[in-house]
Amino acid sequence: MRRLIALYLPALLRKITIRYRLLASFILISLTPLLVSGYISYAESSKAIERKTRLFTTEVVKQIAKNVQLRMAEIESDSETLVLSDPVQSALARYALDNPEDKGRARAALTKILLDSYGSFQDFGQKYFLDRDNHVLDPQVFAQLGRGVVEFSAAARTSQRRVVWGALELWDGQKTIAMVRQIYSKNDNRLMGSLLLGVRAARFAAIFDNASLGAGSDIFVVDARDGTLLVQRRERVAGVVAAPALLERLAASVRGGEQTGFLAYQQTVAEGHPPAGYFAVYTQVPNTGWYVVSTLPNQLLLAEAQAVRKEIVLIGVICFCGALVLAYVVARSISMPLERLAGAMRATRTGDYGQRVEYEGRDEMALLSQKFNEMAANIRQTHEQLESRVAERTRDLEQANLKLAALTMTDPLTGIANRRRFDDMLASELHRAARCAHPLALLMIDVDFFKSYNDHYGHQEGDSCLRKVATLLQTHARRASDLAARYGGEEFVMLAADTDAEAALALAEQVRLALESLHLPHALSPIGWVSISVGVAVQVPDELQTPELFLRMADKAMYRAKEQGRNQVVLAGRK
Ligand code: GH3
Ligand code: MG
Ligand code: MG
Repeated sequence: MRRLIALYLPALLRKITIRYRLLASFILISLTPLLVSGYISYAESSKAIERKTRLFTTEVVKQIAKNVQLRMAEIESDSETLVLSDPVQSALARYALDNPEDKGRARAALTKILLDSYGSFQDFGQKYFLDRDNHVLDPQVFAQLGRGVVEFSAAARTSQRRVVWGALELWDGQKTIAMVRQIYSKNDNRLMGSLLLGVRAARFAAIFDNASLGAGSDIFVVDARDGTLLVQRRERVAGVVAAPALLERLAASVRGGEQTGFLAYQQTVAEGHPPAGYFAVYTQVPNTGWYVVSTLPNQLLLAEAQAVRKEIVLIGVICFCGALVLAYVVARSISMPLERLAGAMRATRTGDYGQRVEYEGRDEMALLSQKFNEMAANIRQTHEQLESRVAERTRDLEQANLKLAALTMTDPLTGIANRRRFDDMLASELHRAARCAHPLALLMIDVDFFKSYNDHYGHQEGDSCLRKVATLLQTHARRASDLAARYGGEEFVMLAADTDAEAALALAEQVRLALESLHLPHALSPIGWVSISVGVAVQVPDELQTPELFLRMADKAMYRAKEQGRNQVVLAGRK
């Protein structure tokens, strides 16, 4: 687990751009508490709604039970007043006499009393006096109905109570609430008979006509002992009440001795539909086996809870959108400067350190951007310094190279071009002359009797003499394309481009004369001065011409000049 958090999770997250990571964390952070608190408040509200409904419904059914009891007490007290009244007492006393005439009169009197007392009340569907032997005293009573009344009255008599309430089954199978009151003589407290009143359910139903608890809810009075439905609302949902599941659970609760309670049950309301959840609140009508029951579909509670949930969802969606916008803005505020920074860094790959990152604010991104700008500026400055230093060094190197080149091309003793320079020049001039078909002239110059000059004057003087000869040659190489060079020892060469034999001979003669006229003393020379012998070679070179051949030509001519007495010019190939 630790490994997962420390290693894999960060690695996984790094595969996602910062922008999306921020978005996700924002949404998580903002939505998690909302969802949790939303769920809690939803659960709380559902419970609170259920509790409140239960409390309210309990209050309602208790109130109704009290009203039912009051109504019953009212009927009981009216009936007591009636049976203790003198006309009833004397009529029943007369009926007890064994005289058919008296019986007939008493029966007529009692029928009249009933009509006078209850005849105007629509609510009393059945009203009968019964004699001590439990016979109905009304001759007009149908046999079938009479049996039901007699049975009910007989059952009441065995209970030993003065007033018994219960359900009376009528001839059409319907049941009505009935009360039987035993009648005792005021004089000797003997049982004289009983009064039976069948009360229309409507008399009780009016009690909870106004007690509406919402759509799908119902309220009724049921006899828990046999499940008989005693009172129901005048306009009620058919079939809902006598749910077997409800009656079963109710009977079980009642057996447990609960007077008021709550139970949940399932019931199929319509064919083909799954059973719906209901709950019922019940309370006993005191001193009876009757229960006032109110049933409510769970849907009714859910509807309220759903309204709460909808509100929570709406708030959730609004918060989510808000979080999304906020997260986007925040993520952008971080990712934008980062992208700009990355762009600027990419640009440095091409050596562009002039990039500057725009930044605002004082956050870490601004600091990073500022640091990047400083770094880029530093690098740029260092870069420029480095470049200028390199340029400076390159310049120095070039100059040094030039110097070196000059040195490598110059003869150190005489200061004129050396053999290497001459070789290069000869090769290139030969090519050029061949290309342009121009004549090229080469003068091979050797100082006469120089060995003996050295011997006589010393090597130092010899060097000095060589320098003077070199300077003289140099002054005669006037054109840019002319070259005077030291070939080696006391031998010199001159190269003159675009020069024919006449001009070359003239140049050689000029040089020889110029030296002669300097009158540099040479005691061991027959003429007394330093002189030179010059071999001249002139060629319009072809492709076969090589520097060696050309040099040998000039050299041969120079040797001929030596042979012919020195201090003279000889043109190669001319006798
Ligand atoms: P020739 O007229 O036949 O040319 O006679 P030569 O004495 O000049 O004969 P050679 O050309 O054989 O002699 C060359 C001499 O030049 C030999 C050497 O002492 C001298 N020499 C060569 N290089 C130098 C140098 O750099 N300095 C000095 N002082 N003398 C040199
Ligand atoms: Mg020589
Ligand atoms: Mg010589």
